[in-house]
This record gives sequence, C-alpha cells and structure tokens, in this order.
Amino acid sequence: MIAFNPQKCIGCGDCVTVCPQQCYVMGENKKSMHRFPERCMECGACQLNCRAEAISMEAGPGCFVYIIKEQLFGKSAAHDQAVAN
Ligand code: SF4
Ligand code: SF4
Repeated sequence: MIAFNPQKCIGCGDCVTVCPQQCYVMGENKKSMHRFPERCMECGACQLNCRAEAISMEAGPGCFVYIIKEQLFGKSAAHDQAVAN
C-alpha cells in the first residue's frame, strides 16, 4: 500500500522515472500523481528514490520477484516482464 504526501513532493519526477510499471505521471502543477495504483507491484523503487520522503509504503512480494528477474534477465527485461504482467 502506497501513501503519497503531496505537501512534501518537490516535483522532481524521479518516481516517474524509476517506476517500472508507469504508475506515476506528473500533474499539471509539477506534483507527481499516483494515477494507476492497480499496476503497482510494490517494488519500493519510488519510495527509495524519493528524496523528499513524500512516498511511504511497505514493500510487498513484488519487490522480491522484480529483483530476481533483474538478476536473471537484466533491468530492462525485468521491466518489460513487469509491464507485460
Ligand atoms: S520522487 Fe518524490 S519528490 Fe520527486 S516527484 Fe516523486 S513524489 Fe515528488
Ligand atoms: S512501488 Fe514500484 S511499482 Fe509501485 S508505484 Fe512504486 S515504483 Fe511503481
């Protein structure tokens, strides 16, 4: 489960860049919006990369699966498989 605090967000866009599932898009006011929560596999990348600590969550089983795929097939392959799932 992800919690996004727009008060803390500085609009850097890093969450948009790192999310393998394209869960985030930038809002008109340069704040990130979590518009596709159904795509989230709970990898934790957005939270880890948010310098403003605007995202909090508990990493779920998807994190483990993504890391294993990344180790076996490389980051791009893991990303592609995650998007396809
Ligand atoms: S990484 Fe954090 S501060 Fe940057 S846009 Fe995303 S939520 Fe906002
Ligand atoms: S936890 Fe992973 S999949 Fe979910 S929104 Fe964050 S970066 Fe995207």
